[in-house]
Amino acid sequence: MRKFALAIHGGAGTILRSSMTAEKELAYKQALEDAIIAGESLLIKGGRSMDAVEAAIRSLENNPLFNAGKGAVFTNDGKHEMDASIMNGKDLMAGAVASVQNIKNPISLARAVMEKSEHVFMAGIGAQEFAKKINAEFMPDDYFFVQQRFDQLQEAKKEDKMILDHTVDKEKKFGTVGAVAIDQHGNLAAGTSTGGMTNKKHGRVGDTPVIGSGTYANNKTCAISCTGHGEFFLRAVVAYDISCLMEYKGLSLKKACDIVVMDKLVKIGGEGGLIALDAKGNIELPFNSEGMYRASKKEGEELFIGIYKD
Ligand code: ASP
Repeated sequence: MRKFALAIHGGAGTILRSSMTAEKELAYKQALEDAIIAGESLLIKGGRSMDAVEAAIRSLENNPLFNAGKGAVFTNDGKHEMDASIMNGKDLMAGAVASVQNIKNPISLARAVMEKSEHVFMAGIGAQEFAKKINAEFMPDDYFFVQQRFDQLQEAKKEDKMILDHTVDKEKKFGTVGAVAIDQHGNLAAGTSTGGMTNKKHGRVGDTPVIGSGTYANNKTCAISCTGHGEFFLRAVVAYDISCLMEYKGLSLKKACDIVVMDKLVKIGGEGGLIALDAKGNIELPFNSEGMYRASKKEGEELFIGIYKD
C-alpha cells in the first residue's frame, strides 16, 4: 500500500492581504478544507484517486466563492458557459466538456464523457444533449446568479475587455478550481473546472477542458491542474509540458514546475499557477501571481492551506 496525497486549488491571481477581510479569509479556508475532506475521506478508505478528485472538485463547484459550477462567472451576454476536464493517470483515459450551461457539476459530466461515451471531448449543445441522456443534474439560471459576479460583468463591460475573475474592488483573481491525487494503489488523477473569464465572448474556451493544457495525469510522471489566463496556458501546453520534462528529460517535479511556471509562462506573459503531484506523492503548488487559493494533505501529515505568496 502506498501513502495517499491530495492537493486542490481554488484559483490564482492578485489576491492581496490588504483587500481581504478576516471573515472572507475564513470562508475561503473553510471551503478549501471542506474540499480536502471530501477527497481525503475516500482516499483514507483505499478509494480511487479519480473519485477523490471528482469529490473535491464537486465540493468547490457547489460553493459560490469559486469560479466554477454555482459561482461561474458571466459571459458577455450574461450567461454561464462552463468548462471541465478529468484524467486518469493509470490508463490515460480522459473526459472533457466545454461551453456547457445549467449543469450543476461539470466535472461529473466530464467524467461521464470519459466513462459513458466513446469520446473524450464534447462541447456546447451536443454536450448538453449527452448530459440529458445520462440524467446529469441541471439547475435553473438563477442558481448560478451571484451578485458579485454580475457586478464584475458590469465592470468588465465598462472597460470593454475580457477580465479574469476579479472582484469589484479590482482584485484580479482566477477562481477556477482543480484537484490532483494519488491513491493507496499508486494511481494518479487530475481534474479542473471553471466558468472561464468574465465578459468572455460566447463560445470562448480556455485551457481548463483541454487535456494537456489545463489538466493532465500519467502514472509515469505526474498529475497537474492549472489556473490562470487560459489563452497563455493553451499556447504553452502547460500540463503536458511538465509531464514531458519529467518523462523525456528526467527532471524532478519541482524542477519541471519551476521551468514552466516561473520561466516559460512568465516570458510570454502568462499569469497563474498550478497544483502538481508526482508518482512518489511529492506535491508542488507553484504560481507566478500574487496568490493562489490552495490546500494539500498527505497521508499521516498535517493539512496545509495557503492563499498568499508568503
Ligand atoms: N484558466 C481559466 C480560463 O482561462 C481561468 C482561471 O483559471 O480562472 O478559462
